Amino acid sequence: MPEEKTESILVCDGLVKIYKTEDVEVMALQGLDLTINKGELVAIIGKSGSGKSTLLNMIGGLVRPTAGRIYVDGKDLFSMTDQQLAAYRQSTVGFVWQNSAQNLFPYLNALQNVEAPLYFVRMTEKERREKAMELMKMTGIDHKAQSYPMQLSGGEQQRVAIAVALANDPKILLADEPTGAVDSKTSNMIQDLFRKLNEKMGITIIIVTHDISLANKVSRVIMVSDGKISTEKIMKEAYKKKLDDLSTETLAEMDSHEEYSVLDKARRVQLSEDALKAAGIDSHKVRVKVENGKIIISK
Ligand code: ADP
Ligand code: MG
Repeated sequence: MPEEKTESILVCDGLVKIYKTEDVEVMALQGLDLTINKGELVAIIGKSGSGKSTLLNMIGGLVRPTAGRIYVDGKDLFSMTDQQLAAYRQSTVGFVWQNSAQNLFPYLNALQNVEAPLYFVRMTEKERREKAMELMKMTGIDHKAQSYPMQLSGGEQQRVAIAVALANDPKILLADEPTGAVDSKTSNMIQDLFRKLNEKMGITIIIVTHDISLANKVSRVIMVSDGKISTEKIMKEAYKKKLDDLSTETLAEMDSHEEYSVLDKARRVQLSEDALKAAGIDSHKVRVKVENGKIIISK
């Protein structure tokens, strides 16, 4: 069992993405490395424009990298044929977008929305209905099965959207700013739902957001800036144990995570602006010394 836990489901290796438009080139990803293990719940956090959506869409097989590779479950994603890639999108990943209009068909009720992806699977009508109801129970929206998206609140729409994304039993659930369009109370509810699904189903979940509050609920937080991973925060065990018992307000005041800078393959480390300022470093050269088993970076 423990071996299974550390098995990686996703490996990103030197991902580069350059968008070319008529007069400019934008480098959205600048050699991004990332490994995610099976069953992890991960938040990728960064400012707008830092490359989060590009990365998520790449993992989802929607955007091709300019350079670098992605392996999902050991398979090299972009060496697949278009047909294989289409099958991958349908069977291996589930998407939840920020905008529920992108997630749901407006003219289908909630139940029909959850049933929709199941038409691609060999199933009887009864099995399809049962599975859809089961998914809606899991996301806590079964009581609104007959409602149309328009009749649901933003939070309820996202619950339906998450049920839709889970319909094909994906290995990875990808969510791009899932709490971007709802108030903070609803946002908390959705965060708790992701955590519950991760715990109960063991599904790997990757959430991309600029909302730093999400970090308090997730065991691994990856910070992206300028198309690269800068730091990682790992939740402290003591905090994890209290997560279910304490209120969100109390939790927000606690010291939840340990912060790590990421060492890339070329042994480079990115220093935060705050750290540089605090150390009075304002040039492009620094001194690196090893003292008592510690590396010291100074002016
Ligand atoms: P985030 O999701 O973190 O806001 P994105 O991945 O959407 O970041 O964008 C990263 C950068 O790439 C931005 O500068 C954005 O303007 C640019 N970009 C994203 N998609 C495209 C595209 N289809 N064509 C051109 N530039 C793009
Ligand atoms: Mg985005």
